[in-house]
Formats: sequence, structure tokens, C-alpha cells
Amino acid sequence: MVSKSMYALGAQPSGIRELFEFGRQRAKEVGAENVFDFSLGNPSIPAPGMVAEAISKTLTEVSPVAVHGYTSAAGSDACRDAIAENLNSRYSTGYTRNNVFITCGAAPALVATFRALADDDGGSEFIVIAPFFPEYRVFIGNAGGKPVIVPPDTDRFQIDFNALETAINERTAAVLINSPNNPSGVVYTEGTIKMLAKLLEEKSREFGHPIFLVSDEPYRELVYGDVQVPFVPNYYDNTIVCYSFSKSLSLPGERIGYVLVPDSVEDARTVFLAVAGSARSMGHVCAPSLMQHVITACINLVPDVAVYQRNANLLYDALTSYGYNCAKPDGAFYLFFEAPCGISAPEFSDFAKERYNVLVVPGDSFGCPNWLRLSYCVETERIKNALPRLKQIIDHLKEK
Ligand code: PLP
Repeated sequence: MVSKSMYALGAQPSGIRELFEFGRQRAKEVGAENVFDFSLGNPSIPAPGMVAEAISKTLTEVSPVAVHGYTSAAGSDACRDAIAENLNSRYSTGYTRNNVFITCGAAPALVATFRALADDDGGSEFIVIAPFFPEYRVFIGNAGGKPVIVPPDTDRFQIDFNALETAINERTAAVLINSPNNPSGVVYTEGTIKMLAKLLEEKSREFGHPIFLVSDEPYRELVYGDVQVPFVPNYYDNTIVCYSFSKSLSLPGERIGYVLVPDSVEDARTVFLAVAGSARSMGHVCAPSLMQHVITACINLVPDVAVYQRNANLLYDALTSYGYNCAKPDGAFYLFFEAPCGISAPEFSDFAKERYNVLVVPGDSFGCPNWLRLSYCVETERIKNALPRLKQIIDHLKEK
């Protein structure tokens, strides 16, 4: 006997994975150069050279027993201090290591946070604002919580505050945001964050308990030009940050990130220990020790987003000129566009895949039907070669 729900999760590949597998198969038939796979969000720029230097330095200078040994569950003091100091210098905060719990990336950070905030009796609601990372549903379900989806604001990809206000009730444990956003590439403005803070303060008072704001920030450093990502805990006291180095340092396979529980959070120590307990209950022992050394050494590195920015501009300008309606990307590495000519997003995805070997993900699983995500974390040359096909697709659809 096995758990039916766990079996179902393991047995059903995500739509994104399915597309990726299709692309691999197609590449064998028609040649990799003829398949334009924009399905996955795997960083395409290599980790900065300083990461490799920090790895070799750690391996030569620190005793192997220490490098490969366990650290404490929350992480090494040095790494937690480095993260706290980095945040303090950038955002004028006063964090210490006691606010930082190091995890194996943002996914486990979110899983631990949701379980920590969920009522043991079940019934806690977690509000997710569309469009959203599809795994949130799985993570919230794992915590025994219920995801409540707020429909997208497809004009600006900010927040539909009327819909959000309607969704909040006495069972709301937390609201989850992700900016820069996967899949829209949009950053929430300071105005949006201020309105969100005001609403959550009012609703926390109304329902007599804090409504937490969980800020999922794997793309915080990946923004273009003068776009600023407001540091959410400076606007709302009950903010918990889930961060990852997967995208900012191009280290997704190394599994390193953290949960930040600021002292401004109500009963901060209790919340922090609940995050620790929740991580423990899911088998967290510690994040990779070698990577903790690397992060300690590289915490102040600023990623070079030039390639992503070039790809974003190229795509946005070209697709808009062809007649696609696109969300203007502020960061991350995703372009989100509307299925043109009245067809549905899955129909568009199938058509682009079958006829043109262009792989883009329908927005249905992101809670945004009719839109599609194109991951442009690929070489610029791939984008240039794909543009004629993206034009042919829309021209073809216009003729239909
Ligand atoms: N949150 C969002 C919005 C993501 O896009 C991803 C990964 O793509 C994650 C969380 C998980 O990231 P990590 O690799 O740090 O677990």
C-alpha cells in the first residue's frame, strides 16, 4: 500500500517537465538546433568565477572533516552572520544570525514556512496571487493548508486588491507573494507593497491575529535597469522572506537558500522555532556545508544580468511588434504573453510545439489561463533564431 496522494504527485509529471521531455525527444528527431525549448527556468549564465574560487579555497583551506560535516540545523554562524550583515547593509535593517534559518533552497524554505504557519487542526488558508509558481499548491497542501487563489490583474500584473480583500477571512494564515514574479517577470511596485501592507494590517486587526506575508524571493537580484525591488519586511512587520541563491548565483543544483524571520514578526522567536521544527519534521538536517562556506565568501556578489536583460528586450520588442500582447519584463527571466487570435493558451502551446518546435508553457497551471510563459534563460543566439518562428506562428494564426 502506498499513499494515493503521494503516488499521484510522483506519477504525474508537471506540464513543464512534459514539455521539456518532448523537446529532448524532438531534438533527437530534427536536431537540437531546430528545437526552441523555452520551458524550463534553469539559469543559463554560469555561476560567477568567485564561486569556483570559493569552492577551491574552502576545499584547500578548511579541514575536510569540517567542510563535509554537519552544521547546526539553522546553518553555520558564519553563513548566517554573512546573510544578516548583507541584508543590513542593503536595507538598513538590524538582523542577526538569529533571524536567519538556512535551507536547501527556496522550495524547502517555503515548505517549512507554510507548515510552521498552518494550524495543526487543518483549515488554514494561504492566499496565493496569480500568476504563481505552480508548486505552491503542492507545498501548501503538504502543510495541510488550503490554497486560495486570487485571480490575476492582467493589465499590469500587480495585485487585484478587491479580489484579495474578498479572499481574506479569519482562517487566512498568510498571503504569499513572489516579486520579481515567475511567470510574469513583473516586479511589484512600492505602491503595491504599501497598499498590501495597509490591507494586511487592517485585516490582522479585524480578525485578531497576524496575517503573515510570505515573500518568495528567488529572483530578487535579477532586475533590469533602474527597477527597484522593495524590501518587503521594511513595509510590513509580519513578513517572512524565503530566499534562494539558485537564480542569483546560478546555483540551482547546489540547494542553498534561507528563511528570514525578522524580530518585527509577532512572536518572532516562536515563529522561528516553528520553522526549525517544521524543517526538522521534513528531514532537514542542514543545508550543504560546502555551499554555506561559498555563500559566506560570495554573499556580496552582484549578478551580471546583462544577458537576461538583452534577451528580455529582444523578445519584448520583437513579439510586441509582431502583435503579441506581452507583460513588460522587469526582471527574473520570463516573458509572459497572451495567446493571440482568440485561441486558448494550451492550443497555442500545442500548435507552436507541433508545427514550429517552439516550446512555451500555457499559463493555466500558473493560475493565468490565456497567457503563456517563455523562459528566456538561454543563449541570445537561440532567441534570435526563434524570432522568425514566433512571427510565423502569429501570422499563421491571423490567417486562420
Ligand atoms: N519560487 C519560485 C517562484 C521559483 O520560480 C522557484 C524555482 O524555479 C522556486 C521558488 C524554488 O527555487 P529553489 O531552487 O531555490 O528551490
